[in-house]
Amino acid sequence: MRYLLLTLLIIYLPVTFAQPRQSLVPGGIAMIELDPNDTRGYLFHKKPVLVTQIDGKSVAVIGLPLSLSVGEQFIEKSDATQVHRKYFEVAAKQYSTQHIEIKDKRKVNPYASDMDRILAEKKRKQNARTHYSEAEVDVNFLLPVKGTQTGSFGRRRVFNGQARRPHSGMDIAASTGTPILAPSAGTVIELGDFFFSGNLIYIDHGQGLISMFAHLSEIDVTLGERISKGQMIGKVGATGRVTGPHLHWSLGLNGSWIDPALFFAAPD
Ligand code: ZN
Repeated sequence: MRYLLLTLLIIYLPVTFAQPRQSLVPGGIAMIELDPNDTRGYLFHKKPVLVTQIDGKSVAVIGLPLSLSVGEQFIEKSDATQVHRKYFEVAAKQYSTQHIEIKDKRKVNPYASDMDRILAEKKRKQNARTHYSEAEVDVNFLLPVKGTQTGSFGRRRVFNGQARRPHSGMDIAASTGTPILAPSAGTVIELGDFFFSGNLIYIDHGQGLISMFAHLSEIDVTLGERISKGQMIGKVGATGRVTGPHLHWSLGLNGSWIDPALFFAAPD
């Protein structure tokens, strides 16, 4: 019995206390403690800043885009008389390059007849990524799938010898049909079968924190549905531009993709 209890503690403690951790690099997050009476109205590059409670303190959590220039950055807000700024320093990070062979060449070099669809989907994805709603945010995330984390965020991608945009999320290898659980509560704001992403779901967690799940074999939610943390939303698959079954999970904050791994304890 004592052995069982110990095992349970080991499994569940890191999950219970999973919290975002600061990484002041492009693709990372900045965390700034705010005065409890001064949490509203801060902007980062004109986008509203998420504020949440961590260890009883009001903390601004700011997404830093991969394209961000290094050096001094700030959040700011204006009142009738002046502009208030809080500064932080962003350092460079060198992301590695990954070469990938895709069998379905059309997913790397689409036909001219695919472009209308691709452009329409790009617009929908951009709208979903930059969606904003005022809501309390639960930043204590669950890992959506138990599996091996393969592709790391931010890697430069070369598909069939051709450079493409950096990897915008976390890849978790798991077999087709593995249930995908919502890492936190939210609302489904976009879903469908997309050219590159295959079957995808966007969940709005509130205050500009957005999850995107791609390459699903099955979608088990509907547009506008309210989702609770840990709810099954779909199943792992190999749809879209993939080399095999896995979950691709992107996490957006104030309009930019950031490394989802920063919402979990650092690996040993
Ligand atoms: Zn991926």
